[in-house]
Amino acid sequence: MKITDILARGGPCISFEFFPPKTPEGEAALMRTIEALKPLGPGFVSVTRTGAKPREAPVELVTRIRALGIEAAAHVTCIEASRDELAAHYDLIQARGIENVVAIRGDRPSDPQFRQPPDGFRYAVDMIRYVRARGHELCLVGGGHPEGHPDCRDLELNIRHLQMKVDAGLDAVITQLFYDNADYFAFVERARRAGIGVPLIPGIMPITNVPQIERITALSGNQIPAALRVALERARDDEDAALDVGVEWATRQCAELLRSGAPGIHFYTLNKSPATRAIFENLGAEGLVGTPAPRLATPSAIR
Ligand SMILES: Cc1cc2nc3c(=O)[nH]c(=O)nc-3n(C[C@H](O)[C@H](O)[C@H](O)COP(=O)(O)OP(=O)(O)OC[C@H]3O[C@@H](n4cnc5c(N)ncnc54)[C@H](O)[C@@H]3O)c2cc1C
Repeated sequence: MKITDILARGGPCISFEFFPPKTPEGEAALMRTIEALKPLGPGFVSVTRTGAKPREAPVELVTRIRALGIEAAAHVTCIEASRDELAAHYDLIQARGIENVVAIRGDRPSDPQFRQPPDGFRYAVDMIRYVRARGHELCLVGGGHPEGHPDCRDLELNIRHLQMKVDAGLDAVITQLFYDNADYFAFVERARRAGIGVPLIPGIMPITNVPQIERITALSGNQIPAALRVALERARDDEDAALDVGVEWATRQCAELLRSGAPGIHFYTLNKSPATRAIFENLGAEGLVGTPAPRLATPSAIR
């Protein structure tokens, strides 16, 4: 089923993002994560494209996940691909009966020798136009950047670029992670003012490890609010305490987002289930998703 049809059913659409594991052990662990998250009834899940794995890896994993009865979207990046490679890849996606693609530019590889194929696509919008011109009847979901993007910090200009993607045929947007809901609300307001009408799904990455989130936000340029930074500093050398802080912060974020009418929440799970399950239980206890759970899953770590 297309993600747009799932969203149109109403009620919050909860989704989970995974990446293709590098090892058989990682794959077994991911399958356990999927089993643990399936009872939460995700609207869909998505599988990222990582440069370390063949282009087909997300398609293979999406095929396996769909066989478990869970709708799944394959991420397709374009920065490193030639036009022919992408054409063959979209043909494969179509042949597998996959209906949803997260169409993303991808980050420039760190290898200084990297050269983009001369007939490749510079931006996601170019790939979206190409896919639509080829007549693929896919639901295309793209990336949005509430805090701007390292290549373009101008927030209004980012919205104009997003508008170009929607005009080219994007059906919905998942945002980059953010830790201050004010950034998402302002992003939605700018987008709606610009006439962008597609669903804008907030992307949430629960913090489970302090050094890891510092690395990720340093790369993406996302801000960690002062109150969260202070709480994380206290939990720097204690993984359980960091998990509690991350779960409580994300619970508050998600509760406010859902109460404010966000169409759903896309969880960047990093292939792990405990934080997402705990947040889901908390949201259930507040009557915001699924069956209410009997208790709050985390102590109050942030005061
Ligand atoms: C939901 C989501 C999923 C992701 N999945 C993956 C994944 O699977 N694999 C992966 O490697 N990375 C992934 N990423 C990260 C992504 O690759 C990076 O954020 C990337 O740098 C931008 O991708 P994009 O599709 O938003 O790019 P684009 O939409 O192409 O935008 C990139 C930058 O270029 C600017 N821009 C766009 N069009 C123009 C134009 N015409 N002229 C000038 N500037 C322009 C934009 O404002 C923006 O700053 C994901 C990100 C998100 C939000």
